Amino acid sequence: MSVVSVSMPDELLNRIDQFAEDHGYTGRSEVIREASRNLLGEFQDKELEDRELMGVVTVLFDYETTNVEEKMMHLRHEHESLVASNFHSHVGGHHCMELFVLEGTLDDISTFVGKVRATQDTLTVDYSVTPVDDFGPLADMD
Ligand SMILES: [Zn+2]
Repeated sequence: MSVVSVSMPDELLNRIDQFAEDHGYTGRSEVIREASRNLLGEFQDKELEDRELMGVVTVLFDYETTNVEEKMMHLRHEHESLVASNFHSHVGGHHCMELFVLEGTLDDISTFVGKVRATQDTLTVDYSVTPVDDFGPLADMD
């Protein structure tokens, strides 16, 4: 196994150590290994491959101190064929919430979510993915 040096904020490190203690991990390395495997496996879902999917992505950021809004606008333009709609709202006084509705493949959606996550100064990034190619027999609905 290789030993690597990773920079992260003290606050995050404290949370990792606390998590390791609370959940009986041998230490922070084990937590980070498991978290990395989960992240890498996240978009490997065979059930969702080669299907038409809808994704909803929400991004929360601070209105006063960041240029996240501009970066979100660039992402929207860069992925114009994927972004079906986009909504911007102000929440909690000083925060902006950007919501994207995506329509595309798992690869497209995972690329988009990856770019949103890589954006500096976001507070939270959440998403969900739902197949839209099979809602069961429509004949039963009338
Ligand atoms: Zn705003």
